[in-house]
Amino acid sequence: MSATSEFDDLLDPEPPAQRPRTVLCLPPGSSLFVAANALEEVLQRDATVTTVALNMAERQLGTTSRAFLSDRFPGVTRSVGDADRASQPGESTQYRLLRFQCSQCDHQVFRTFYDERAIPACANAEHGSMVLRK
Ligand SMILES: [Zn+2]
Repeated sequence: MSATSEFDDLLDPEPPAQRPRTVLCLPPGSSLFVAANALEEVLQRDATVTTVALNMAERQLGTTSRAFLSDRFPGVTRSVGDADRASQPGESTQYRLLRFQCSQCDHQVFRTFYDERAIPACANAEHGSMVLRK
């Protein structure tokens, strides 16, 4: 599994038993840097998120958590990007993190890309497609 080893630093080797309700989807070929920044932004945008499943394309890389990341990277999960944002308020210059939410439950998907042909669907199949949130 050498393809995923690059991301192991970000992933909790002892993931929570419960499947995260928040998923971060990265496009194929995303760098570790992008993954780390996107994870950071997810945690900053939604203070209620404790665990995140990390996917690249359709592949599940693993899961991570706020506690794991802040333990492993003290300071990083609080301040990554702050300096950038101070000089460039508003959107990231690298990508725009999009947030999709289920209209019927608390599942959500964050993506760094928009593909209208593939709107994320809730893990609860009967809930259908998620809705893009601002
Ligand atoms: Zn749902």
